[in-house]
Amino acid sequence: MKVMQAYRFALDQTPGDERAFRSHAGASRFAWNWGLATCRERYEAEGRWYSAAELHKLWNARKKTDPALAWWSENSKCVYQEAFRDLDRALRDFIKSKKRQRKGKRLGFPKLKKCSRCRDSFRFSTGVMRCSGNTVTLPRLGTIRTYESTRKLARRLGIGTARILSATVSRTANRWFVSFAVEVERAAPAAHPRPGSAVGVDLGVKTLLTGVDDAGNVISVPGPKPLRASLRSLRRASRAHSRKSPGSANRRKSAARLARIHARTANIRADALHKATTELTVRYETVAAEDLNVTGMLANRRLARVVADQGFGQARRMLGYKTEREGGRLITAGRWYPSSKTCSACGWRKPSLTLAERTFTCDACSLVLDRDQNAARNLLALAASGAERLNACGGTVRPGHAGRVPVKQEPGTAHAGKTGTASRQLLPTRHVSANAH
Ligand SMILES: [Zn+2]
Repeated sequence: MKVMQAYRFALDQTPGDERAFRSHAGASRFAWNWGLATCRERYEAEGRWYSAAELHKLWNARKKTDPALAWWSENSKCVYQEAFRDLDRALRDFIKSKKRQRKGKRLGFPKLKKCSRCRDSFRFSTGVMRCSGNTVTLPRLGTIRTYESTRKLARRLGIGTARILSATVSRTANRWFVSFAVEVERAAPAAHPRPGSAVGVDLGVKTLLTGVDDAGNVISVPGPKPLRASLRSLRRASRAHSRKSPGSANRRKSAARLARIHARTANIRADALHKATTELTVRYETVAAEDLNVTGMLANRRLARVVADQGFGQARRMLGYKTEREGGRLITAGRWYPSSKTCSACGWRKPSLTLAERTFTCDACSLVLDRDQNAARNLLALAASGAERLNACGGTVRPGHAGRVPVKQEPGTAHAGKTGTASRQLLPTRHVSANAH
């Protein structure tokens, strides 16, 4: 079974490496902007643009004749090519969105990439890309040290069960990373060691994650302490940042500081989520979670920060590929399934429930339960009813109160997401703790 997986390593670059990174990122941005201007001209005149291959040809002709572009050879030619591919994809997405063939927000015509506004990033898809020990080797850039060992990936490459398709170098705050897109040959997962086990998972607002399993155990994963501390300093830093006058050196400094804290917060959160989701998927064959409409929720300003902070989308992705990896499965409740509003004991539905209400109180059977636990129980019931429906060819269908809700089964849609790195010293040590309910 072939799966796509991302391996990401933080780079321990020399000042010379960093100069080369910045140059490549600048070249990538230049190629995008040059290609965009060229395509826009043609799009306005003829309603079509140049493909990535055509742009590459035009660029090759141009770079040799225009002395102002003589710097092009300082960077790998692959970087320009990849920028043209990205542009081609962006233009196609724009057209699809215009014709309403694409989900999500309507996209505008692709924009120019400004040095100050966009992320430093560039990609290779051909040439020497390999890793060994604490180094990675990239086209043109040569061998660069990494903070962590690349051993796991190197071993797979060595025995031929992995193939690097591309390498993207990017900067987050003050740190550079390389992310390899890797095609991995993996043995089909064996059956789950605990067949029949199930857990309903509520991705929380106050807690990171709350689960209720088929034996009634409650699994509660609070946001790790370092995350809360980090969020506090994030709030402080963003307030301080907003007071600095635009264009000033102080503003630039505070922006860098803010970006650093952002990156740190994201690392802590991702790590906590990785630990929790791994443990859940190892312990339970069936995991039921909400399929959150994350874009829709982000539009709601009050919720936006919380959603972004807790990384709902990230958690869903992790549960998707990890259940598949462990031989289990993920069942997702439809976007409109009212898991928080429904009573997990009798099925009565609350007409309205605000986020501030942390306790669920049933008007019909007077159940009083923690809001997240109530939601997790409903999801568990949904998993049970959904599971029965899935093997319903034999007949036993017993829809519970949640059984009327459409269930979508997803045997792991996303595979990418393995992080090879993220500064280890930041990692919290809290694990999933199960308390008997
Ligand atoms: Zn009730």
